[in-house]
Amino acid sequence: MSTAPEGSTSDRRHAPPTGPESAAAVVGNGTVVIPSPSKASHRLRLNPSSDHDPESYDDLQNQVEFSPMLLSSLEKYLPPQLLSLPRDSKANYMRDILLRYSPEGERTRVLKHRDYRQRILASYKPLNRELYTLHPPSFFVPSFLEAIKENTAESFRRIMTEPSPGIYVFKMFQRSTCQTLLSEVENFERWVHDANFRIMRPNTMNKYGAVLDDFGMEGMLSRMMDDFVRPIAKVLFPEVGGSTLDSHHGFVVEYGIDRDVELGFHVDDSEVTLNVCLGEQFSGGELFFRGVRCDKHINSEAQSEEILDYCHVPGYAVLHRGRHRHGARATTSGRRVNLILWCRSSVFKEMKKYQTDFSRWCGECQRTKRARHKLSIATTKLELMKRERKVAS
Ligand SMILES: [Zn+2]
Repeated sequence: MSTAPEGSTSDRRHAPPTGPESAAAVVGNGTVVIPSPSKASHRLRLNPSSDHDPESYDDLQNQVEFSPMLLSSLEKYLPPQLLSLPRDSKANYMRDILLRYSPEGERTRVLKHRDYRQRILASYKPLNRELYTLHPPSFFVPSFLEAIKENTAESFRRIMTEPSPGIYVFKMFQRSTCQTLLSEVENFERWVHDANFRIMRPNTMNKYGAVLDDFGMEGMLSRMMDDFVRPIAKVLFPEVGGSTLDSHHGFVVEYGIDRDVELGFHVDDSEVTLNVCLGEQFSGGELFFRGVRCDKHINSEAQSEEILDYCHVPGYAVLHRGRHRHGARATTSGRRVNLILWCRSSVFKEMKKYQTDFSRWCGECQRTKRARHKLSIATTKLELMKRERKVAS
């Protein structure tokens, strides 16, 4: 079962709908009329103006429903006469084109989710402001920082253990990071209770926990993925888009007697998942793994080497492919809180649509391929023997 987040928006935002007159964009000191008479004729060029240096749209994140990165990459494809226009005009032009390809239902969902986030941010008061900007030296342990700085396969392997193929464990968060995150999570829950606010839980399987991105931590987690997860994933998980991770879903889960108790067997809606235990005192709650599978083989039996039960240690991270089947055993006493970062690659998702053989990462596809290979060798041998016998007789 795949756990699609209820309110996940990837990284798109929504802007207020504009009327038919929006082809004329009002910008700064006057009105710039975009040359085309109707939006339907807005077009991009086939070949990019490769010497053009595109602008940054980062600060428009809350005003435009498309990712600032997408706008920056599209800019080179604008008709040359538009390249020198003010940034807002270019943004509007590209937006009109993109809207033609974006389904209405999806846009409404994105709009609703943006309003939901704004309602939280307008009334939620963070307890630990320092958590909202990533400050690596105080967040991470020195060994982890050094490995990232060195940025080689050897430096990553040095700080990691691999208790089962494709599952990497390493010390990541400082004790103080865990504690401040825990107190912030408590603060979320208190606020949700006191304000009687109905929040969207992290995914369809957890009734407790909170989406950190909805509480203002999106920027911090983006940076964590860009600067700290992607370099590792590029080396360890290249076959599932590790080097092209470009969006995330970040949340905390809470387990215990008065929280979620356990989590059934599932795969994540991610290419790569980072799971960091924040604490606190608990028993039980082991993470169990049963091998990586593609959609077709999602229910196939696990091989003995794929079976792993892992006990969480506060401050330690587990990094695995999203398609690595797993679940969490019951937390039998105390309370356990984990930070989870689902990292996704739009490039990999797109490429996957056109593939049928996933033997580079699916354990079952690998086995099938090996078996086919063996069979074909055996058949060839038999054929050769028959021919030899014929020649001899
Ligand atoms: Zn498969």
